Amino acid sequence: MPEHADFRALYLSEIGVHTPLPVDGDDSSNNISDEIKPEGAVAAPSPILSESVPTSPSATSSADTAVDGNRLDDLAVQASSCTACQLSEQRTRVVFGIGNPEADIVFIGEAPGREEDLKGEPFVGRAGQLLDRMLAALGMDRSEVYIMNTVKCRPPNNRDPRPDEVEACSRWFDAQLKALSPKIICLLGRVSAQTVLETDQSLSVLRRNWHDYHGIPVQVIYHPAYLLRSPQQKRHVWSDLCELKRRYDALLP
Ligand code: SF4
Repeated sequence: MPEHADFRALYLSEIGVHTPLPVDGDDSSNNISDEIKPEGAVAAPSPILSESVPTSPSATSSADTAVDGNRLDDLAVQASSCTACQLSEQRTRVVFGIGNPEADIVFIGEAPGREEDLKGEPFVGRAGQLLDRMLAALGMDRSEVYIMNTVKCRPPNNRDPRPDEVEACSRWFDAQLKALSPKIICLLGRVSAQTVLETDQSLSVLRRNWHDYHGIPVQVIYHPAYLLRSPQQKRHVWSDLCELKRRYDALLP
């Protein structure tokens, strides 16, 4: 596996950046282009998350999988046998999350894909490798952050999770974020952003501003899988990553 610095150099070279991570005042951060196309069609908002993070399943949750306790590893064990929605029928493994349980920053995608389903780990394969390079460009690696999805089981044919599936899985999502208690959240891609922020705004709009999730600052960036299909957007993601790094550093003691 390449060294940390190699990943960083690789991502930066991909986007034609040959200077160190810029700080405040990076001109490129103002270059949020009108040419950016939204990531797919605008979807209806999903009813994922309640107003407050619950400590127990909601009354509308299926009763077959109760969330007990708030330790991440305990939650992962409980979730591994969850059958609260139809996604349990075709999954290989529940993909709960990975990374540092003490992380100050959490990256959230939408749902596992085929490779994630097989391995039981979020963001593997080519999109995961690109995410690693994006993290390295920030001076981070997976041991310093936490990575998860809004929904823990793979939707068939990589379709978007349905609202009822998002609702069912919110028991794990809510408990997971409560256990993590991050200082900052980065949402990866349109589906994750629209789900967590409960909005139907396009990603090209959402990425222009900071958002709030129960008092936690939230940034939205393009999903690595989208960047693989649209590599011209990597340069714009670089400006978003610089802004994320600036805010992250400012939040730390
Ligand atoms: S997607 Fe979530 S709620 Fe549905 S079966 Fe998997 S873990 Fe349970």
